[in-house]
Amino acid sequence: MMRQKQNRTLLKGAAIAFKATPFLTILNIFFGIIHALSFSLQIVATNKLFDAITLAAKGLSTFVDCLLPLLVLAFIMLLEQVLNGLHNYYMNVVLSPASEVKLSSRLHKKLSDVDAVLFEDTEFLDDLNKATAGAKEVGIFYGIIYVLISLYGVYFASIGVYLFTLKPILLVILLLAFIPAILSHITRVKKFTALEEESAPLRRENDYYRTALTSIEYFKETRMLGAFGYFNNLYKDTLELLRTKEWSVGRETSVLQLLLNLSSFIGMGIASYLLFVATLNGEITVGAFAAVFSSLNLVFALMQEIVGMHMGNMSQNSSKVMNYIKVFDIPSVKGTDGIYDRTAGIVVEHIFFAYPNSDKNAIEDLSLTISPEETVAIVGENGAGKSTLVRLLTGIYRPASGKVTIGGLDTKTTNPEILYMNSSGVFQNYGRFKMTLTDNVSISDTTSEPDMRRVEQSLEQADAEFDISYDTVLSPEFDGVDLSGGEWQRVAIARGLYRTNDFIVLDEPTSAIDPIEEREIFTKFQQLAEGKAALIVTHRLGSARLADRILVMQNGSIVDSGSHEELLEHDGVYAAMWHSQAQWYER
Ligand code: ADP
Repeated sequence: MMRQKQNRTLLKGAAIAFKATPFLTILNIFFGIIHALSFSLQIVATNKLFDAITLAAKGLSTFVDCLLPLLVLAFIMLLEQVLNGLHNYYMNVVLSPASEVKLSSRLHKKLSDVDAVLFEDTEFLDDLNKATAGAKEVGIFYGIIYVLISLYGVYFASIGVYLFTLKPILLVILLLAFIPAILSHITRVKKFTALEEESAPLRRENDYYRTALTSIEYFKETRMLGAFGYFNNLYKDTLELLRTKEWSVGRETSVLQLLLNLSSFIGMGIASYLLFVATLNGEITVGAFAAVFSSLNLVFALMQEIVGMHMGNMSQNSSKVMNYIKVFDIPSVKGTDGIYDRTAGIVVEHIFFAYPNSDKNAIEDLSLTISPEETVAIVGENGAGKSTLVRLLTGIYRPASGKVTIGGLDTKTTNPEILYMNSSGVFQNYGRFKMTLTDNVSISDTTSEPDMRRVEQSLEQADAEFDISYDTVLSPEFDGVDLSGGEWQRVAIARGLYRTNDFIVLDEPTSAIDPIEEREIFTKFQQLAEGKAALIVTHRLGSARLADRILVMQNGSIVDSGSHEELLEHDGVYAAMWHSQAQWYER
């Protein structure tokens, strides 16, 4: 059952690889066949040459009679060398990079269609890690399969026929010599797949430590805290553990490889002996003996190449390749197109939501209506469910049960592109794009060329007017400048404002800005949001106070709602929070 599924996945991958680079793949197969034929012709030419030499030695023909077969053989050998070089070059320099580009971009396209909540699932992230690495390997993997079939397939078939006509037992020995090779291959595949499964979380951890040590985002803190040694030790430990695992699997498979070589050697010895006896008995000519004897060497060398190198590479990469292919089995979030009605606002009816790998509901039986011209603030302690609710209200996540409609469109059944079309958002973990200031703002609307007037306006509205030109890259790594945390947040807000929208969300993008400044930005924001639906998530009540309505969240539910004054009167969670923050707003 499991095997069947694996085979189906591999077959599906063959189709994916072929579709990515159809012309180049056909050319690869063509190369393989020509290459194989040059090997086979070499055997025939060797046979002819040695027969001619035997005749000449007996004085039955002249030296000139040997010349033509000699030239033919030399030509074929030369051709074979050229083809070998060309084919390798073609696989490594043409086919593999071209397919990597195509396959990576197909993967990225697919990822943009899958349910966003999957990215919260660590298991999915592990698989994705392997799949991304797989994009590079898929082209090589299937390139080799196509070569195995075309080059080795055609060559072994032709030499098989040749040997069979000479002496059927030779073919049997050859096939028997293959059995240990196949067995060792299966063991390798199993070992490397298990290794890959085991190492993915470790590799992710190791990558993370490396980032903490070397990336510009982290290094200041890492140095400052004196955490360099700490992370470096973690990095070394995880790397060592990874290497130990790899070494132990490598050692075991090397022993197998040795046994395989031995069995091939024995097979070759038996075949040579049989040939020798047959020649002495006059069953085959000396030419045939020479041809087969020299080609046996090649056959065994090729077998080792297939099993030792190609199949070894393939089994090492098979799980990455499998993971790449499996990504395409994840259903895309699709939906129907519908008519968006901005007057319908956003309506939430009894929604529940839990994260993958979590048995606790992050949102529990929550209902809410945001009318199309209302500014709503969500407040609550860390972990109350504010960010999760925002993702549900924007259609990024879909509820497990219950219903969210945006402009009358159900987030569960509507094409996400249509849902996002009229919304804009600025989130806590906004992107700090290493691009120009202009691009950092206008990236929120890539449907047209950046509109400089709108870029300027958005920056002004977000209070983000710095002393740098619009085409300065916001990264010292690219000869540009770095911004302060507060400046980055303003750029992110400008980006959110640049996008035309009916519904805009600010999910705590202002934590690096001081409370009073935040309130100023929010006041401005509220003016901008006039006539639109707006949602502000903040833990600072001075800003929340500006909203038409405040929702207080606790444990995934809305526990209180109303205006600032009403909530103070209720004397609940909100009132307590307010009193503890009051001094933030005194100057
Ligand atoms: P807030 O924005 O109010 O701080 P969140 O919406 O981030 O709260 O979190 C709500 C609840 O969901 C919390 O209990 C949090 O631990 C949980 N949660 C958030 N993200 C994940 C995740 N990726 N996997 C599992 N649980 C999560």
